[in-house]
Amino acid sequence: MSILDLPKHIREKICVNPITGCWDWLAYKNPDGYGQLTFNGKPGLRAHTVVYTILKGPVPDGLQLNHKCKHKCVNPDHVYPGTHGDNIDDYYRDKGQPCQYQNVRQKLNLSAEN
Ligand SMILES: [Zn+2]
Repeated sequence: MSILDLPKHIREKICVNPITGCWDWLAYKNPDGYGQLTFNGKPGLRAHTVVYTILKGPVPDGLQLNHKCKHKCVNPDHVYPGTHGDNIDDYYRDKGQPCQYQNVRQKLNLSAEN
């Protein structure tokens, strides 16, 4: 599966970055910086979720797509199904602040999870 397997109206909103391999979303992004679109009549869908679903299949129940790259791109190879907790781990790993991780989890009331 490749970018060519996407419907044209989605494909033309994507610019592939030859250096990072990221599929940058050129159309509307929500305030968090994630690409957003209307697909199959449903507004407000995350672009990376729609692309992943088309090319790789549905996201498993109870999981969300977390980014491996830092660009919030829509390349299905740059995301993986995980929990919200995984995403926070990645965020703080990227930021290089693992020592604050426990505090953040407590602040977000996630300590009971996992
Ligand atoms: Zn990427």
